[in-house]
Amino acid sequence: MAADHNSAVGEQPSEKPRKATKAATPVRSAAKPESRLAMVRRARRINRELADVYPYAHPELDFRNPFELLIATVLSAQTTDLRVNQTTPALFAAYPTPEDMAAAVPEELEQIIRPTGFFRAKARSVIGLSKALRDNFGGEVPGRLADLVTLPGVGRKTANVVLGNAFGVPGLTVDTHFGRLVRRWKWTEQEDPEKVEAEIEAIFPKSEWTMLSHRVIFHGRRICHSRKPACGACPIAHLCPSYGVGETDPEKAEKLLKYEKGGYPGQRLSPPPDYPGRPAPPLGASADAGTGGDAGAE
Ligand code: SF4
Repeated sequence: MAADHNSAVGEQPSEKPRKATKAATPVRSAAKPESRLAMVRRARRINRELADVYPYAHPELDFRNPFELLIATVLSAQTTDLRVNQTTPALFAAYPTPEDMAAAVPEELEQIIRPTGFFRAKARSVIGLSKALRDNFGGEVPGRLADLVTLPGVGRKTANVVLGNAFGVPGLTVDTHFGRLVRRWKWTEQEDPEKVEAEIEAIFPKSEWTMLSHRVIFHGRRICHSRKPACGACPIAHLCPSYGVGETDPEKAEKLLKYEKGGYPGQRLSPPPDYPGRPAPPLGASADAGTGGDAGAE
């Protein structure tokens, strides 16, 4: 996963926003430190308001079963979900099961996943984890964190994605977007993903963890970008202590919006039925513009 070049470190609340708007008017002053209780209330309100903004929030990797989600998540390191989604149809057509993928000729599999970058290392991981699934778990993806993290190339983040979205086990996905946004919102000052995970878990009930992750990541990809956050078009600006780190002019901010918020295709070739945007184009089609605008931070 790419480094977040615009992390919240050093970002300060804007005491005098350059231009206040109805949608983007911070309500708090930085003069008085916020109590823990007030922060928790504000965090839960942000979650509720994000649920209204993104009622269709979902994992942005295409998958049909836990094995496909596991492989897609491993491939998503250092690239966009869009690129993974454009690559996996051919991959799963060639190797539909862990047994098939474990028996793959590495060079042939590498050529299929080449568009996702770092394809030799990723090929080693997906073949290795497929062998581990075949040999240690009867060809099934295990539904326990402790088992998942024993698989080659699978860390806590990948394991939580699989547990939350393929097994219904609540989990936070602390990727680069999630970490950046929760620091901008002053929910935590931690940089280490495991410490971020622990601190955010303490703010929300377990039942919220998976959907909270999707909402926060949706917001990071569409509006609160790494390098150019669209503060002037942000529906939760009134709850954000970092309002003003990005563009506050509403018209200019509007132009920074991505995916369905900006009128562009989404990342999934097969989005859920309630997704209001357009599906992503297949590999090689020319409609990529605007779909991966924050790709460097995916
Ligand atoms: S875009 Fe991000 S930094 Fe700007 S107001 Fe919205 S949440 Fe805060």
